[in-house]
Formats: sequence, structure tokens, C-alpha cells
Amino acid sequence: MGKIILTGDRPTGKLHVGHYVGSLRRRVELQNSGEYDKIYIMIADAQALTDNADNPEKVRQNIIEVALDYLACGLDPKKSTILIQSQIPELCELSFYYMNLVTVSRLQRNPTVKSEIQMRNFEASIPVGFFTYPISQAADITAFKATTVPAGEDQMPMVEQTQEIVHKFNSVYGEALVEPKILLPDNQACMRLPGIDGKAKMSKSLGNCIYLSEEPEDIKKKVMSMFTDPDHIRVQDPGKIEGNCVFTYLDAFCKPEHFERYLPDYANLDELKSHYRRGGLGDVKVKKFLNNVLQETLEPIRTRRKELEKDIPAIYEILKKGSEEAEKVAAKTLADVKNAMKINYFDDMALIHEQTEKYRKE
Ligand code: ATP
Ligand code: MG
Repeated sequence: MGKIILTGDRPTGKLHVGHYVGSLRRRVELQNSGEYDKIYIMIADAQALTDNADNPEKVRQNIIEVALDYLACGLDPKKSTILIQSQIPELCELSFYYMNLVTVSRLQRNPTVKSEIQMRNFEASIPVGFFTYPISQAADITAFKATTVPAGEDQMPMVEQTQEIVHKFNSVYGEALVEPKILLPDNQACMRLPGIDGKAKMSKSLGNCIYLSEEPEDIKKKVMSMFTDPDHIRVQDPGKIEGNCVFTYLDAFCKPEHFERYLPDYANLDELKSHYRRGGLGDVKVKKFLNNVLQETLEPIRTRRKELEKDIPAIYEILKKGSEEAEKVAAKTLADVKNAMKINYFDDMALIHEQTEKYRKE
């Protein structure tokens, strides 16, 4: 059994810097490490429709945006298979069988789904599809026999749900599925990057994002308006690092060489933090430094994206090829699943023989 990656994003908007540090940057490193036998990157349009049923146009428009962001960040279709979820009908069939292995109360306990329901004000009117999306995510992961799911912290409950489904399936029907593991970012700040408003998570749905394709002046405006420590009023006041977005972003993005280039008075981030804590360091200076760091990180991504935007049909072709290749793999897994469940009646010679014998005796 090889090492296989499956991960993806919902096409509900352009990708933001939370995606970058939480998952995308890592994916590109893993892709280029050569340590994985297969890498599948899924644009989860069917999942996006579970809470955007009345707005299919939003999902349709954002498929290309997500694909452009992927390629701009360095995902390479020669090394990674990029696919569109809805083009793989086998995923629905797998979800349908997995639904029998999960209880309603188990889904109700999923903390990510709980907070997403609250965020979307669904209350009692939760679409069934949305409520059950952790099951469909288990289908996505297992269809490709993924061993590794690089994702942000919010995906932990989904991977746990998948592990439970795999465990249950394999013990009831026999070993057909592979149990995946989540691969979280190694830096705490990247697990769940907050929005520029200081809210728990940067998220397309909350409108508190810095997008990967953002223009330099917009990045600067957003950085300068970021949430810091509300009690740090005068420069000489001592400041708090905890919950201070600007420092969380520096934790996620800043490298030692950025100090040499943009802030040579400090050797590293620890020195900058202790000066802020002591007092005597203004927010504007730290924000200007963060702006330089983000501009340097995002500039090459934006430039590459602009090149890619010149040939949109080529991008759709990449997605078509990737989806076709992925469908073959998912079809093979579905056949394994149906064999294990013994619902492959027409290939099951033993069943036909058994029934023949039964009726011969009567
Ligand atoms: P939506 O609001 O539509 O749910 P989203 O911004 O949460 O969109 P997703 O497509 O749900 O983005 O998430 C895709 C991947 O990016 C997941 O692996 C998720 O863990 C990661 N991710 C999303 N937002 C963040 C964040 N703020 N910090 C770290 N990782 C994140
Ligand atoms: Mg999300």
C-alpha cells in the first residue's frame, strides 16, 4: 500500500491566506518531496452546494478561482491530480452505504458541524445534505484510499469520523478501506488562522479574509486595519501578544530573513514580541513589517496567477483530465466496497450456485 494524499477546498470563494498556511503551502511541499505515490486535490463543489443550494452560480463561478489559486501556489498537474467532486458519481454511492454506519447523534456531536450550523443560522432548518457532509467527506477520502489528509484543525472531526466509518466498515464487511490520518500544520498559528477582525477563523463565509490574489494596496489596507490589542493605546503602553492578530500572522508567515530585509533592529520574532510586551513599540511599526512579509509572500503567487488567467480553457482541461483519472480510481474502490458488502450479485458465482442448489433440492 502506497502513501496517498487526499485534500481539498470548497469552491465558495477565492482562496485566502488561512488556506495557504493551513493546508496549501504544506501540500506543495509534500507534492515536491517525492514521498507520496499519489496526490489528489479535490474541488469540493458538491459539498459547497450543501449550504449553497439556492446559489449554484456562486459555486460554479468559484471552481476556476480555486483552480487558479492552486496552480498559482505551485500545485503541479503533472505531480498532483486535481479533480472536481461532482464529476465522480462513485462518491455519492459510497456515501449512501456509509450512511448506514453512522448515527444521527454521532453527527450531532461533531464540533465543526455544530459551530458551522450556528454560524449559518440554520437552527432547525439544517439541510440534510449539510448535516451529513462528514459522511460524504469520508467517501472522498476513502475513495482514493488516502493515507494522509493535510488540513487545518477544523478538519480533525471529519478525519475522526472517517476513521470510525473505515473501522466499522472493515470489521463488518472485511478489510476493504484504508484508515487515513490528518496531517496538521506544525505551527500553532497555522492550525486556525484568525480573520483580520480577530474572529476565531479566517473564512470565506465570514468575509474577514486576505485573499491570495489580493492587490498590494488592498493587502496593505487590510493589514493596517487589523485587530491588535485594544488596550495598547499609546506606544509606551505594554502590549499583549495573545489574541493579537498581527503577531499571530507573523507567527504563521515570518521567516528569520524577513528581519534582515525589513526590520534589522530585531534579530527575530521573539525579540520583537518582548519589546511589544514591555511597551515602547507601536502597532504601526509591527503592521508595516507584517505588510512587507505578506507582500513578499503573495507577490509571486499573484504574478503566476495573472499568467495562468491568460489561458482559462487550459485550466478546465486540467480539471477534466484530473476528474477522469480520479473517477477510475474511485470506481475501483467502489467495486471493492460492493464486493466486501456482497452486493455484486452478477459477479457472485457462489451466490448463483447456492441459489441453484437450493431450488434443485426443493
Ligand atoms: P467556507 O467558509 O466556505 O467553509 P473556508 O474558508 O472554511 O470556506 P474550506 O474550503 O472549508 O475553507 O477549507 C479548506 C481547507 O483550508 C481545510 O483544510 C481547512 O482546514 C483549511 N482552512 C480554512 N480556513 C483556515 C484557516 N483560517 N486557518 C487554517 N486553515 C484553514
Ligand atoms: Mg470551511
